[in-house]
Amino acid sequence: MKAVAKVKEGIGLDLVNVDKSETLNEDEALIEVISASICGTDIHIYNWDEWARKRIKIPRIIGHEVVGKVVKVGKNVKNLVEGDIVASESHIPCLKCYYCKTGRMHVCKNLSLLGIDVDGGFAEYFKSKEISLWKINLNINYEYCAVLEPLGNAIHALSEANVELKNVLIIGCGPIGLATIYFAKKLGALNVIGVDISDYRLELAKKMNADYTINAKLENVEKKVMEITNNEGIDIFFEMSGAPVSFEKGLKLLKNDSLAIFFGIPSMPIQIDVTNIIFKEINIKGVFGRKMFDTWFKMEYLINKHGFPFEKFITHKFKLEEFEEAFTTIISGKCGKVLIKVS
Ligand SMILES: [Zn+2]
Ligand SMILES: [Zn+2]
Repeated sequence: MKAVAKVKEGIGLDLVNVDKSETLNEDEALIEVISASICGTDIHIYNWDEWARKRIKIPRIIGHEVVGKVVKVGKNVKNLVEGDIVASESHIPCLKCYYCKTGRMHVCKNLSLLGIDVDGGFAEYFKSKEISLWKINLNINYEYCAVLEPLGNAIHALSEANVELKNVLIIGCGPIGLATIYFAKKLGALNVIGVDISDYRLELAKKMNADYTINAKLENVEKKVMEITNNEGIDIFFEMSGAPVSFEKGLKLLKNDSLAIFFGIPSMPIQIDVTNIIFKEINIKGVFGRKMFDTWFKMEYLINKHGFPFEKFITHKFKLEEFEEAFTTIISGKCGKVLIKVS
């Protein structure tokens, strides 16, 4: 089968031909991939940065945002049958640790990740444990379902906040920020302000119904936010860029007794003025992955009720063989979500 893999050190990836292994563990399913989408993590692997060099053991087939059809199941797979359409959860819990045993598999102590610690889904087939698959119950084009994994990050973040009638600031209008904007509006946020440094992404933020967009490179974010909020500031701040400067910036714009949700991962340790947090009684919540599977249920309810503009959110589609072009598109920053159509 064809697959996109990291086979040697250095920048780039390769299209390889490998045997599709049909030998399954008892708790695994074999999935024929319909489509996969590219995530920031894949770019780290493509660029072979410090994180990737430390974490990835080569050769490794990458890709963790995947949808496909079950073609074979192991002996102990209980709730999936051949023909089911499944999306990857991407977090692979150990099922044995304290967190797995107490309903928090997504922060498992021995967590491994699809396409990072085990071979992933930028391939014609991939294997997965049943526990890390979500059977699709949505009546939408299945090829869109590869992006449910990142959409779930947005739903998880929103589940930690009550945005109704609140002034909401979202810094970072990449795919997860964009999905947060869309659903924050649907969940009744008063004003949703999207901040980014790319006009292309701010245009997408408008398409996701952001009330205001601010280009942090060209405009004074603080001044504009204070104008929008009658000098009161923000109720809920979602940090979705990982840009070191934005954490402090967002905290500064928050009202007293407010909430900051941190999702974006900065590439280095950052400094934050904690006196700001103490005197303003700011609550901070980190969000990682998706709650398994509370987030997935909520996501399906929300998509069924409010729809989701997948055709605006996914701006580019490529074939597996065109992966190089797909990665160049993402690195250019002029895109929303980029989809790789496999079958
Ligand atoms: Zn990802
Ligand atoms: Zn565990």
